[in-house]
Amino acid sequence: MLLTNKKIAIIGGGPGGLTLARLLQQQGVAVTVYERDVDRTARQQGATLDLHDESGLRALIEAGLLDAFQAHYRPGADKIRLLDGQAAILHDQHQQPDTPTFGHEHFRPEIDRGPLRDLLIDSLAPSTIVWNSQLLNLAPTANGWQLHFAGAYTAYADLVVGADGANSKVRPLLTPLKPFFTGYTVVEGNVYDAAQHAPALWALVKGGKIFALDGEKSIILSAKGDGSLAFYTCQRTPENWAQESGIDFQNVQQVAAWFAHDFATWSPLWGELFATEAAYFVLRPQYCMPLDQEWPTQSTIALLGDAAHLMPPYAGEGVNMAMLDALELSRCLTDGRFTTLHGAISYYEKEMRRRGSEVAAISIESMEQMHSPNGVAWMRQVVA
Ligand SMILES: Cc1cc2nc3c(=O)[nH]c(=O)nc-3n(C[C@H](O)[C@H](O)[C@H](O)COP(=O)(O)OP(=O)(O)OC[C@H]3O[C@@H](n4cnc5c(N)ncnc54)[C@H](O)[C@@H]3O)c2cc1C
Repeated sequence: MLLTNKKIAIIGGGPGGLTLARLLQQQGVAVTVYERDVDRTARQQGATLDLHDESGLRALIEAGLLDAFQAHYRPGADKIRLLDGQAAILHDQHQQPDTPTFGHEHFRPEIDRGPLRDLLIDSLAPSTIVWNSQLLNLAPTANGWQLHFAGAYTAYADLVVGADGANSKVRPLLTPLKPFFTGYTVVEGNVYDAAQHAPALWALVKGGKIFALDGEKSIILSAKGDGSLAFYTCQRTPENWAQESGIDFQNVQQVAAWFAHDFATWSPLWGELFATEAAYFVLRPQYCMPLDQEWPTQSTIALLGDAAHLMPPYAGEGVNMAMLDALELSRCLTDGRFTTLHGAISYYEKEMRRRGSEVAAISIESMEQMHSPNGVAWMRQVVA
């Protein structure tokens, strides 16, 4: 096997990196995940995700984790209500028959990010993940890479996989290309114990999702299994809006004032999202890797997920693509089709970039349509 007696370092313990670690470990490969979080509880994990039959779910099945997934997924959380800014319900999937179940190509079961990450972590051998390991840079050696982490410790790997997300430290070793700004900024937020702190919206979301569109702006809400309400707003902004606006996104009063101004024509009901200290907010300008990107293959380093093909979230594909990348890369490296690492990685990268570009184009088109004057009519067709 190509990876016999080789040390594999995966940088980043997100859904892509953890799935790859699990799949490689199943083949007996020596793999270590270096994750910058201090421990598994260090960070609030974001909203609910739907896994797709042909990508995220397929990877979980191959990883032998369907049972664990079925124990933690959230039936009904995929139901969408389409609203306008006045909170009038324009379309309601709760009134439609249930979607098909596992094994059906249109079934897209939802799972919260935290439980998904937990089930992947729990599937790994103890000590596979080295927490509190923020990669600062990596330098080539005769056969592999010397990894340098914050805190001045180092490690060696024969093969490095960059699964370190949007601001990957591994990506520049393969390509000088950088993500471009799409023209939109998301404010992501989470209201804890939403039944108490945002009761009207909590009742309205009904355990599922709300897509609210008006005036070329949007709010997407999802109910989480822990009783919190995850959401993200989106609007067109200049690239450096975060700095220019001067808003402190740690300060709920300042965030509420921004929302009241920029969403002034929306119903006061939405203000519930910004009326409690039991919340957090993260500003996310939306970037995307160039859709026609290429780079020369190297035999000892590869990328997957957002590190390779960062895209806006409007196709619901980012996690699914990261997990499918993990599946395809693990196959190329272990199933005997290739006689060299260069051949295996080259084949994987070509397909990965093609897939990534296809869904990134869909995601950008969806983002543009949702935030166009025609957004509601377009979204009605999507959810009908
Ligand atoms: C608001 C929002 C909503 C979204 N909704 C959806 C959705 O509904 N469905 C969907 O499929 N996708 C969605 N996405 C996209 C999705 O979150 C990403 O595509 C996905 O998480 C990518 O997975 P990944 O494993 O490649 O990277 P990440 O999930 O970003 O994981 C990267 C990991 O690397 C670690 N890391 C980063 N830098 C370093 C370093 N230097 N050293 C060590 N570790 C490091 C990070 O701590 C993290 O754990 C959404 C994104 C956003 C912002």
